[in-house]
Amino acid sequence: MEKRTAVFPGSFDPFTRGHQDIVLRALSLFDHIIIGIGHNTKKKRYFPVEEVLDAITKSFGPYPSVSVELYSDLTANFARERGARFLLRGLRNGTDLEYENPIAQANRHVDEGLETVFMITSPEFAYISSSIVRELHRYGQDVSKFLPDSH
Ligand code: ADP
Repeated sequence: MEKRTAVFPGSFDPFTRGHQDIVLRALSLFDHIIIGIGHNTKKKRYFPVEEVLDAITKSFGPYPSVSVELYSDLTANFARERGARFLLRGLRNGTDLEYENPIAQANRHVDEGLETVFMITSPEFAYISSSIVRELHRYGQDVSKFLPDSH
């Protein structure tokens, strides 16, 4: 049978417990999940991308079916190159849905065979966003409880 590969694309600035929860729950759906850190050298990040890559790689060390990569191409092209027919995204609320809908349509426009699979966030993580973590960190707050344990 064909291997079911999904790309979980995002900025992951930083990668939070909410993101981790989506990947862990999706393990039962896919044979291989590639966490794709979209990295555009022109866009400034808050957390250095190499640190984020290292932290995610460490936290999924015990999961051989999860890999982590940086990419700068169009997400649909990156997925095709990796043989992935699925994109994985998380939905926290209606605002996420409105944002995600046109992106999923655009990705199918680029590649008709590319399906976006949405997972509803676990309620305990629904309030976590990378932007809030950045804001708290900027003002010297401890953000470790928003991040996977290995971070
Ligand atoms: P992007 O910049 O592409 O929106 P993010 O890194 O912010 O990337 O998020 C990547 C994906 O993870 C998105 O589908 C987003 O909705 C989802 N996500 C973000 N925060 C959470 C959370 N707390 N729980 C579950 N999913 C989340």
